[in-house]
Amino acid sequence: MSLQPSKIICVGRNYAEHAKELGNAIPDRPVLFMKPPSSLATLAQGIVWNQALGECHFECEICIQIAQPLSQETDKTKVLDAIGAVTLGLDLTLRDVQNELKSKGQPWERAKAFDGSCVLADWVAIESIADVNALELSFSVNGVERQHGLSTDMIFDIATVLVDINQSFSLQAGDVIMTGTPAGVGALHSQDQLSMKLINSNHEHIWTTFCR
Ligand code: ZN
Repeated sequence: MSLQPSKIICVGRNYAEHAKELGNAIPDRPVLFMKPPSSLATLAQGIVWNQALGECHFECEICIQIAQPLSQETDKTKVLDAIGAVTLGLDLTLRDVQNELKSKGQPWERAKAFDGSCVLADWVAIESIADVNALELSFSVNGVERQHGLSTDMIFDIATVLVDINQSFSLQAGDVIMTGTPAGVGALHSQDQLSMKLINSNHEHIWTTFCR
């Protein structure tokens, strides 16, 4: 599916252990931010960032592609029916920049919406996903697992997130939701070899990329 998103909406702090590791409180409604389409990068391009800006952290996340327009939908079954595909992605984060912005009470875009900050694997059609609420992700750097998450560990499940987003933002076919990262985030280094694994009942999808 080569639909271009009009926007990429990201959920922050959607796993309790990750909120804790960054010293953030557990939110009482989803924390949202966006990346523009210009942030998209493919696995084949490899990961590149401005190293002068400090640490760039990996955040591996379950990503949802919308196939049907949605506007102020409150029915959880209907928002789930609008999902066209699922994959894994990296919400790349310039952590030092983000910490400085947070300390000043400023928005995060300079840290999270820069060119190349949204690295998406290949979309897996929803028809071959048994249950979006029973997905598992595993992310490894240089062969060592660094992040492991289950969609059942999310503070706000996928339907709740979609309904909440849709009250503020209409969604169009091709729009992408990054559903938040589990614990274990850390800094990337040049030449790191990265592997993302999506487990869907008995099927595994594995994708690899690298840091330039
Ligand atoms: Zn994230």
